[in-house]
Formats: sequence, C-alpha cells, structure tokens
Amino acid sequence: MIEFLKSVMKFFKITFFISVICIETVFLEVGAICAVEKSAMAICKNTRKRSTRKRNTEKKLWLYNIHTKEEIKITFWKNGKYINSSIKQLNRFLRDHRTGEHKKIDIRIFELVFDIKTAINYEKRIEVISGYRSLKTNHTLNKRSLGVAKNSYHILGKAIDISFPRSYLREAHRAACRLGRGGVGFYGKSGFIHVDVRGSLVCW
Ligand SMILES: [Zn+2]
Repeated sequence: MIEFLKSVMKFFKITFFISVICIETVFLEVGAICAVEKSAMAICKNTRKRSTRKRNTEKKLWLYNIHTKEEIKITFWKNGKYINSSIKQLNRFLRDHRTGEHKKIDIRIFELVFDIKTAINYEKRIEVISGYRSLKTNHTLNKRSLGVAKNSYHILGKAIDISFPRSYLREAHRAACRLGRGGVGFYGKSGFIHVDVRGSLVCW
C-alpha cells in the first residue's frame, strides 16, 4: 500500500514538473512573439519617421517649358528654407517667352505645383504652358482669346498653366480644388489646368 502511495506521489511530482516547464515555455514563446512584434513595430515606426522626414526635408520640381523648350529639375526648398538661387532660376524659367521679361513669381506657386504633383503621386516632368505674362503679352492674348482675362493673375506672377498627361489631368484639377489656394481652371481640350494663388477658392 505504502509503495503504491509513493508511486502515485512520484507520478504527480513529475506531472507538476512537466506542467511548470510547459507553462514557462508558453510564456517564453509569448515573450518572444511580443519581442518580435515590438521590434517590427519599431521598424515600422522608424520607416514612417524616415519617410516623413524625407518628404519634409526637400521639395523638388521637374518642369518643361513648351515654348522655350527649356527643362528644369530643381530643389527649391530644403531643410525648412527656400533656396534663393533655385527661386531665381525658376523665376527666369517662367518668364514671358514673347518678351523675355521675368518677374518674381509668388513663391506659393511653386508650393502649389509641388503639392498638386505630390497629391496625385506624379513624379514625371510637368509641362508649363504659361507662367509670367507681361502686360503687353496679356493684352495681345486678351484681344485674341476670351479665355484670357484682362487682369490675369499671370501678370502678377501669381498664376501658372500646367499640363499633365490625360490620365492625370482631372485628378490634378480635383487635387488643386481640394488644396483651395485660389483659382483652378480645367481646360480639357487644350490639356492643361490653370492654377493661381488669389487666396479665395474658385473652381471652373
Ligand atoms: Zn492661366
């Protein structure tokens, strides 16, 4: 009888020991999974931080002027500052191609074009149809076309006409309207949109 009780107790001891090992293993495994998840989350967080940082450290534009056939690929903003030499180059790039005159373009135009292309995830070059227009040029165009306003924002260096491939044009127009910085016009037949920074949103 005593022998029988001893073997029963031995059996329970072994079972208890095995159970403890199992529970510990489970905890260890859970711990390992948590550690893996934690490090994965940290990697995700870091990647997100890095991509946010990348997005915010510089702003680039890649433009092609259809009249002068000039192309510009330039960083105009970096680490929280505008790059003066780039802004000067952009001002010249957006000159009145008829008279050669150039004017200080409102910096919000560069921001707007950058924000539109970012919003629609467009990384290729953007064609410029019209940037700055001198009074003389605008007057000539106004007489010739009803689509050109007498007091156009192009004269003030506060407007730009840009062209995207057909598949992006509507999207670009919608994005510009959503951004709400000023006037946004859709010229589907001619394949471009007009955007300006008049402040109040007008979409047509
Ligand atoms: Zn325009």
